[in-house]
Amino acid sequence: MAKIAINIATGSLQQDEIIVGIDLGTTNSLVAIIHPETKRPVALKEHNSSSLVPSVIHFEKGGGITVGEAARQYLVSDPANTIFSAKRLMGKNYQDIKDKADHVAYKIIDSEDKLVKVQVGNTFYSPVDLSSLILKELKKSAEHILKTPVSKAVITVPAYFNDSQRQATRDAGKLACLDVLRIINEPTAASLAYGFGLQKGENKTIAVYDLGGGTFDISLLHIADGVFEVLSTNGDTYLGGDDVDSAITEHWMKQYGFDALPDSPGYRQRLRLTAEEAKKQLSLAGDFAADFEGRSLTLDRDQFNAIITPIIERTLNCCSQAIRDAGIGKSSIDEVIMVGGSTRIPQVKKRVGDFFGKAVNDSVNPDEVVALGAAIQADILAGNTKDMLLLDITPLSLGLETMGGLMDVLLPRNSKIPTRASRQYTTYKDGQGGMKIAVYQGERDMVKDNRRLAEFNLTGIPGMPAGLPKVEVSFLINADGILVVNAKELRSGIEQSVEVKPQYGLTDEDVEKMLLDSMEHAREDMDTRALTEAKTEAEQLLQTTEKFIQKNFSMLTEKEVAETSLAMQALQLSLSMDDKNLVQAKTEELNTLSRPYAERIMDEAIGKAMAGKKI
Ligand code: AMP
Repeated sequence: MAKIAINIATGSLQQDEIIVGIDLGTTNSLVAIIHPETKRPVALKEHNSSSLVPSVIHFEKGGGITVGEAARQYLVSDPANTIFSAKRLMGKNYQDIKDKADHVAYKIIDSEDKLVKVQVGNTFYSPVDLSSLILKELKKSAEHILKTPVSKAVITVPAYFNDSQRQATRDAGKLACLDVLRIINEPTAASLAYGFGLQKGENKTIAVYDLGGGTFDISLLHIADGVFEVLSTNGDTYLGGDDVDSAITEHWMKQYGFDALPDSPGYRQRLRLTAEEAKKQLSLAGDFAADFEGRSLTLDRDQFNAIITPIIERTLNCCSQAIRDAGIGKSSIDEVIMVGGSTRIPQVKKRVGDFFGKAVNDSVNPDEVVALGAAIQADILAGNTKDMLLLDITPLSLGLETMGGLMDVLLPRNSKIPTRASRQYTTYKDGQGGMKIAVYQGERDMVKDNRRLAEFNLTGIPGMPAGLPKVEVSFLINADGILVVNAKELRSGIEQSVEVKPQYGLTDEDVEKMLLDSMEHAREDMDTRALTEAKTEAEQLLQTTEKFIQKNFSMLTEKEVAETSLAMQALQLSLSMDDKNLVQAKTEELNTLSRPYAERIMDEAIGKAMAGKKI
């Protein structure tokens, strides 16, 4: 949940304690602080190196782990064990990402608690584990640069992250031994950094357009006398530079007639990195040409612009929605601030400028601005910056499931926080003693399309005719951004309240147990899933084969019918044996047997249908 950051002049934090701001990015991450002398935000960097730490993790065969620049070089030489863009998996289940799972060279698997995991050798890592490894590295390097322990941080997340994703980020901080004082939205952080430079009394309405490696956010804010009020936010947590790289890769595959990528992770990774190189080169000047495994790959500016147009248009749709939600006209937006590495693409700047009807402001460093804003927020929390106030909003609607699986929204998206809302419900059966309260987040009408955050039962409602009990459900988002749901039957006073820890949220004890537990469960789950999939496929094949034989009996030879029936019996038998390999082998046998005659019969049928027709 997004947060309200209040001016904590009397905060309990000690002033001399360093609180760092961390931008935990899809592609790169970095740490910033307020410089003790200049009092201005600065990104931390080791001597002569970049402030950006690639969000890449390499797992060595011997068990060692490297993070950052040192890990990046293994993207090509050891792709299956080198994880990038883990942030795109945060708080996601397999359904959310299954279409994209084969865009990466490492293995993403489904897991028991529905959160995806990444398999490296025989070990399974959750996106929380992976992010915590990056955070540990950032903490270690910040401590090295600052020569002081760092244990408190403000971490940024895409504004459009839902509760599960925010909670996952907080948990990653916990695992890295960081006390995460605030999670703030990336575009809001960027606006803090931009607003830091404004003169006192300067009032502005700004749009922050943030297109990074994996996510897109648009936020509209009004800045007046140091008060940063977020008016609306919109975005897509699966849209960014990675998609541009994939689109270029696909373009090349079509152009050069690769039927499919050779089944080698190294090959995929090299092509993806070449695509990224082409993208960066085309952002500067000229066309792109490179030799790739004996082929010459090219991409000119027109082709590049055509490839990225659909991606840019998706971002502009989000911008239109954010403007509608803010209830303002485009003309009242004074500045459009560009944030995120992908805003370096000239066509992105042009189309966004055209959309808003003004030249975009690309003067801030798109790589550092978010971390700098996080450092300012950290300074506000430390009680050092007293003249800035941030009023944030909740990015997605919160509601309850009602009859028929419908979403009843109590707090619409873009509600200012902290906030509360309540509504009364009643029973639908005589004498109904309990009521299920299921809390969801999202914009769709049916709860099945939204994200479930929590569920509990209000029990002990005294027997009354249907429609008589009055159950008041209230939602409160407190200043810490945690949602508290309370349900009370008003006639009897029966009451129950839960603090919504999203289903992926972890307690401190969970965190301790997590690494130990998760691996075995994930292995079991993966086995169960594989067996279920094999059985489902086998059952479908049995049904279709049976129907096919009934329908085309006269066109089959006696031998074909007899052999098929034997193979079907063998497959049927294997289904009772819970052995995935056996089921797969018997499925393949039946397939091999039936394929030739199925093709023959289909060809004959097509021949008949086409007889006498000219193409
Ligand atoms: P961020 O998440 O903000 O660090 O942005 C990273 C994304 O920006 C990655 O997809 C990069 O490939 C992309 N990027 C970085 N530099 C450029 C550039 N010069 N032109 C186009 N994209 C870039």
